[in-house]
Amino acid sequence: MENCIFCQIITGRIPSVKVYEDDRVFAFEDINPISEGHTLIIPKTHAENLFEMTGADLSAVIHASKKVASGIQKALSPDGIAMLQLNGRGANQVVMHYHMHLVPRMPGAGRLPITIWEIKAGDMDAIQKTGAKIAAAIE
Ligand code: 5GP
Ligand code: ZN
Repeated sequence: MENCIFCQIITGRIPSVKVYEDDRVFAFEDINPISEGHTLIIPKTHAENLFEMTGADLSAVIHASKKVASGIQKALSPDGIAMLQLNGRGANQVVMHYHMHLVPRMPGAGRLPITIWEIKAGDMDAIQKTGAKIAAAIE
């Protein structure tokens, strides 16, 4: 896709620090890393988000994520790696080409802010109603 920065990274029109590539997937370092080794894994075929991804590309991204995460683990020895993927502006997706983030956490770096939320018991009636609504909508 012409105006997509990640499509341009795949073709090399925009330079990137590539760490892995196969026939379906491209992986490179994020230019604004949340932590050392912050890596993005993208499908070579443009898809905006989860809803536009084919099963084959989703599967390829997950397999590549495991491969790249294993490389990060070996190279940097983090004490955890967050795997995050955002869909839509409301979820803070900024680049509209599907991408998986791998964010290693180094010992002593503290908890990743996105993983910190207040634990409060929910309203069981509301949870059940919402669950039923989602279950009924799954095709
Ligand atoms: P999002 O919020 O859409 O999940 O994250 C987009 C990510 O892409 C951000 O972490 C941002 O730093 C990264 N990014 C945006 N533009 C470029 C670029 O031109 N090159 C690289 N390597 N990363 C980029
Ligand atoms: Zn694209």
